This record gives sequence, structure tokens and C-alpha cells, in this order.
Amino acid sequence: MHGLSIKTKNIIIILSVVLFAIVTTIVIQGIKDIQTFRKHLVNKIQSVTEVVSANSAVPLEFGDKKLANQTADSLNAIPEFADFAIYDKAGIPFLPFKKDATNHFAKTIKQLKKETQLVGDYLFVTRKIIYEGEFSGFVYVVASTENLSSQIRNYIIFSGTLLLVVFLVAAILGAWLSGSLTRPILKLADTASIISTNADYSIRVDKLSNDETGTLYDSFNRMLDQIAARNREIRKLNEGLEEKVQIRTRDLQKAKDQAERARRAAELADRAKSTFLANMSHEIRTPMNAILGYSRLLTKLIADPKQNEYLEIVQASGRNLLALINDILDLSKIESGKLSLVYKPMNPHQIFNEIKGIFKIKTEEKNIDFIIDIDEDIPSGLLMDETRLRQILFNVVGNAVKFTDKGFVKLSVSKKFSGRDTSRVALIFKIEDTGIGIPMEQIEDIFQAFEQQKDLGGKYGGTGLGLAITKRLVEIMNGRITVTSDVGKGSVFSIELNDIEISSFHVDALPTALPPTDRLRFDGSTILLVEDNLYNLKLVQALLEDKGIIVEQALNGKEALQKLKKKHPDLILMDMKMYGMDGYQATRLIKADEELKDIPVIALTADAMKDGRKKVKDAGCNGFLSKPIDENRLYAELMKYIPYRMKEEDTGTESQKKTMPKKIELDHIPPESLAEIVKIFSTQLMEEWRSMGNSMLLDEWVRFGTRIKAVGEKYNAGFIIDYGQHIIENVEHLNIAVLRKTIKNFPEVVDTLKGVKNESTDRIGNQGQYSSDSIGG
Ligand code: ADP
Repeated sequence: MHGLSIKTKNIIIILSVVLFAIVTTIVIQGIKDIQTFRKHLVNKIQSVTEVVSANSAVPLEFGDKKLANQTADSLNAIPEFADFAIYDKAGIPFLPFKKDATNHFAKTIKQLKKETQLVGDYLFVTRKIIYEGEFSGFVYVVASTENLSSQIRNYIIFSGTLLLVVFLVAAILGAWLSGSLTRPILKLADTASIISTNADYSIRVDKLSNDETGTLYDSFNRMLDQIAARNREIRKLNEGLEEKVQIRTRDLQKAKDQAERARRAAELADRAKSTFLANMSHEIRTPMNAILGYSRLLTKLIADPKQNEYLEIVQASGRNLLALINDILDLSKIESGKLSLVYKPMNPHQIFNEIKGIFKIKTEEKNIDFIIDIDEDIPSGLLMDETRLRQILFNVVGNAVKFTDKGFVKLSVSKKFSGRDTSRVALIFKIEDTGIGIPMEQIEDIFQAFEQQKDLGGKYGGTGLGLAITKRLVEIMNGRITVTSDVGKGSVFSIELNDIEISSFHVDALPTALPPTDRLRFDGSTILLVEDNLYNLKLVQALLEDKGIIVEQALNGKEALQKLKKKHPDLILMDMKMYGMDGYQATRLIKADEELKDIPVIALTADAMKDGRKKVKDAGCNGFLSKPIDENRLYAELMKYIPYRMKEEDTGTESQKKTMPKKIELDHIPPESLAEIVKIFSTQLMEEWRSMGNSMLLDEWVRFGTRIKAVGEKYNAGFIIDYGQHIIENVEHLNIAVLRKTIKNFPEVVDTLKGVKNESTDRIGNQGQYSSDSIGG
């Protein structure tokens, strides 16, 4: 039904109604007619039977069949009459059915239950015959209902014909009617569809009549008018909007370009500022070192107390200036993005020990308590930039001590794993003091460069750079620093460094901060060095002899034990992995020997993992040093077992003379080349020199020497070639002590080169020539 057109639906509705009305009428009328006809027949036959019964009494009583037949004959005039019978009171036929050849009626009357009854196509009517008040028999009249059936048949034919005619007429009329009703609607639908497919709102429908469809057409047309008007408005608005958007986009782009230009300019300016500061600081630092060095030398030469006092002031100011310059250098490095962290396996406990050592003395001087609470489970191998971590903690703890005059300073360190990842850890530092505190409104400011608490009037000195550097360092180390403080009560600085990778290498911690090892001496002590690698043997031997130690050598455990029979050293340095008898076996034998067991044995091993340490300890070693051997760690370990002293400060000039190539002949090199040489030395090579630090990896030093030599060869600078060659030769001959000094002198070599360069540019400047390099210094 859903998919049919309105017209079809209309026709179906009309026809259904007509059909229903006609069929109902016909059926009701038919039933009524049949009933009337039947009643009429029954009444008629009953009255006839009454008459026949009355007329049959005498003939039956007197056995007059002829008379009885006459009565029956009179019935033939009735069209429906079928047959007639009279039975006596005993039920014996007096006048049997005449026309019923098959004896069907005689059988049927025996089964009748009522006086009037329809059986098949016949109506049976029975009456008693009464003679003079006495029952004497029955009369039976049978009427045919065939007339009734034919009448019904005729009625059905007539009704069917009528139905067909009416149905046809209704269908034609319905079609016409619904056509005229639906046509306007269909027209409207077609128009709407054209409008929507072509989006043409100028089309209108022509009104056909003034009835409801006419009104509908008018409304539809009005609606189209409104849509068209709206469309026009929207188009107009859109045109304006597009223009507006274009203008805005242009403005926005302009503003963006401007901002980008400004940002780039600011960035450039910022970088230029930082580079300038970095260069300046570097340039100031060099003469500053000379000022400090020479004033130190002067102190020793001058006896006059007044002059000495002035010199001390010069030195103190120089030191302050140097600290300030170092800070500026750091800050500008950070801000120009040049500071890159150097992640190496390190032991944080080492730094905690150093802090303990250094600030213990300071706090004792100030008569305040220094409390340290460190979670012992903090891994002893972390991948971190040790120098920068030290810088952060020294700054903050240093401040706490500086700004506290009574009470205590407390450093707590704890760790935290993030989730289930046990390969990384977060360190949480808390530095608490009972010092002067910081006013709430200044807490943000103190992290800005050169900002200090107002109203302190320079009482505590300082530059105001420490926290600025600290904050930036903490941030580049993926951490954050926060402060809470109460004026007059104290402050708590909290630092959280996240995502620190745990190193699989365990790194030894030194017991306390090391005194400068250049002045350390172990004069007269004897050490038995057991090592089967000749390079390592020579290296460690040089390090030991440099400090006045007498070194005995053995190439394996067996040889060591033989030597021990003759002479007892103060300490044994034992390589654990050797051909023949290894260090473990040798140590076990030493520790089992009553005479030898008290000699300390320090293991030298490349196996820095925890298991390796345990193995070494189980063998009976007293200490442990991991390879490559760091000289500071070596000396610190020795200090635990053998006597030492600190030598008077040495000016360094003697060793300098010995380890530097004597003559600096660079006059023939043009100033531009000199400037380039200085640049290479003070940047690339200096960086390399710094990154190698104290490591005694001989291959690296050969590479370093070769690189220096290559620079010398490029610019035909004999002095530089000699210096590189000097390093290479000392490595090859394993002159470790000389090598170390030569390498240590590297910054001085750079300074010397700079000096020569400045002289040469001055010379040229004096001759009236312009050289851009002279500006950079
Ligand atoms: P400096 O210590 O050289 O002045 P910092 O950047 O380290 O520079 O500190 C900036 C300022 O923050 C200090 O001058 C001081 O006023 C304030 N400050 C820092 N730490 C503390 C502290 N623990 N207690 C009180 N004031 C502090």
C-alpha cells in the first residue's frame, strides 16, 4: 500500500467502500426475502393442511377413499403442492402418497419431529384428524421448495449483475474523482522535485482552482518567494564574508610574519648576547687566571704585611670575579642552547660524600648543624651529568648554609620509581634550612638572573645567578625545583629529577671530597703492582711514582707470591684477571698466610658489575678499583691504607718548563691563519680535551696528539707539530708522568697561542692595517 500512488489508493478506498455497501445490502435483503418467502409458503401449506385435515375426517371415518381423493385433487391447484397422504390412528396408510414412487415421503414422515418441518427440498406439514372430538388419524401434505431455490438463484444472478455494474461505475467515477483530486498534488510534488534538483527557486506553480489546493499552491509559491529572498540575502552575506575572511587572513598572515620576524630577531639578539657573553667571559677568564696565579706567586715573595693584605684583597676580588664570570658563562651557555649534558655512569653517593665533606666544615665554622639523610638504596650507578648535578646541589646547599646563622641545614635525598619500570628512577632532593627565609612575593624573582632578596643590602654578597642557573639546569635535566619559605623561620627547596636511567655499571664512591691531588704525596711507601698487561702496568706505575711511591712489579700471581717472600710492601694492587695464577687465587693465598694477611690488597678489575665486586670481596680483597683506572680514585683508595701528606703549593713553572716544547716560533704565520689555529684550539680541541678529563685511555691521547699535529702541519707551525708529536711520543714510550703534565698544560698552550696571536694583530694594527680578528680578541 505504501508504494502506491495517491490516485490508486483513492480508487481502492472508493471501490472498497462501494463493494462493502452493496454486498452488505444484497446479503441482508436476500436473507430477508428468503425468510419472508419461506414464511409465506409455510403459512399457506399449513392453512391448506388444516382444511384438508377437516375435510378428511368423514372420509376416514367412513372409509370413503373416493371422497378423500377428491379432497386431495383440490390441492393440485397449488403450485408448490407435491403429494398428500392420510394415515389412520394406528399409523396405517388410508390414502398413501400417490406421486411418491420411491416411497421416500412415507419413510420421511416416520422421522418427523415437528408438525411443520423442512426436509431436503420439501416442506412436510402434519395435522391430526379429529372426528366428533375424537382423534382418528393424520393427514400429511408435502410441498416442494423448488420455487424458493429458483427464486434465490434468480436473486443471486440479479445481485451479481447489479454489483458488477455498480462496481464498474464506481471504478470509473473513483478514477475520475481521485484524478481530479490528486492531479494538483502530483503537480505540486513534481514542481517541488524539479526545484530541489535544479535548486531553481524562481519556478512557480500555476493555480488551477480556488479550492484548498489553490490555497496550498499560493502558500507553496509564497514559501518559494521567501526562500529565494533568503538565498539572495545569504549570497550577499557570503560575498561580504569571503571578502572579510580574505582581509582577516591577510591581516593575520601579516601579524604572523611580523611576529615571526620579531621572534627571529629576538632569538638572534638573544643568541648574539649569549655568544658575546660567552666569548667575553672566556676572554676575561684567561687574564683573570694570570692575575690570580701571579698574585699568588707574589704573596710568597712579599714580606710586607700591608702589601700582603692588598694582595689578598686583589686575590679575593679576583676569585669573586672569576666565580661571577663562570656563572655568566654557564647561564649564557644554557640560554644560547649550547649547554649539552654529558651523561656518564656516575655514583650520586660520591657527590653526597663531597657535600658532606665540604659543608661539614662550613657549618661547623658557623656553628649550625648539618644533617644528611640519604636513602641508602639510591643506586650507585646512574646515567647523569655528574658535573651539573654537583653544581645544582652545591648551589642550593651553599645558599642554605650561607643564609642560615643558627639552627640547621638538612639535605634529604630519596628515590622514586615511576610505575613498574625499575630501569629508571627519580631522585627527590630536599634542602631545608632554619635561615632568614624568603618573602612570599619574592619567591618567583629569586630564580631570575641577577635577582636577590631585596632589603638585604648586599650583606651576603653573591651574584644572584646561582638559582637562575640551577633552575635551568634542573629543567634541562627533566626536573623541577620548588620552594616554600617562612621569613625568619627558614626555607625548603625541593628538587625532583625524573627519568634517570640506572646504569648497569656500578661506580665507586670516594669516601669524602678529595683534597687536590696535585699536592698529595705518599713518599717512601712501597706498593707491589701485580699486572700482566704491560701498558696498564706502566700507566699505574707512572701514577704511583708520580706521588713518590716505590713500585715493585709482578706479572702474575705466582711471581707476586715469590716477591712477597722476600719483601713486604705497604699495599698490593692486584689485577684480578691474569694468565697463570690469577688475582683471585693469589689473594686467597695471601690472605691465608699469617705473615702476609695484613697487607691490604686492592683489586683492579674491569668487571664493574655488582657480581664482580662480590667475587673480589669473597677472595679477600680489601678494596676495589674499576678499570680504566681514574687517578683520583686510585689516590683516594691509597689514602685509606698508606700514610700521605700534602706538599707545599707549587707554582707549576718547573714542570711547565719541562713539559712544554721550548721555542714558540710562529712569526712566519699570517695573522688570519693564527686566528684560525686559535679558534680550532680553543673550541674543538679544548672541548675534546675537557671531555677526556682525567681518563688515561692511551689510544684517545694518541688521537688527540695526532689531531694537534695535523693542525700544525696544515699551517706549517713547527711549535704545534712539536706539541702533538710530544704527546704521541710520550704515549708510545709510556712516559706517563710526562704525558700527564704535557696534557695538563694544554690550556696554557692555548693561552700562549692567543698571546702570540694578539701580539701579531697588535703589530699589524700599529702598522695601520685593519684586521677583523682583533675585535674578537
Ligand atoms: P646568590 O646566592 O649568589 O645571591 P642565588 O641565585 O643563588 O644567588 O640566590 C638568589 C637569592 O635568593 C639570594 O640572594 C637570596 O636572597 C635568596 N635565597 C636563595 N636561597 C636562599 C635561602 N636558602 N634562604 C634565604 N634566601 C635564599
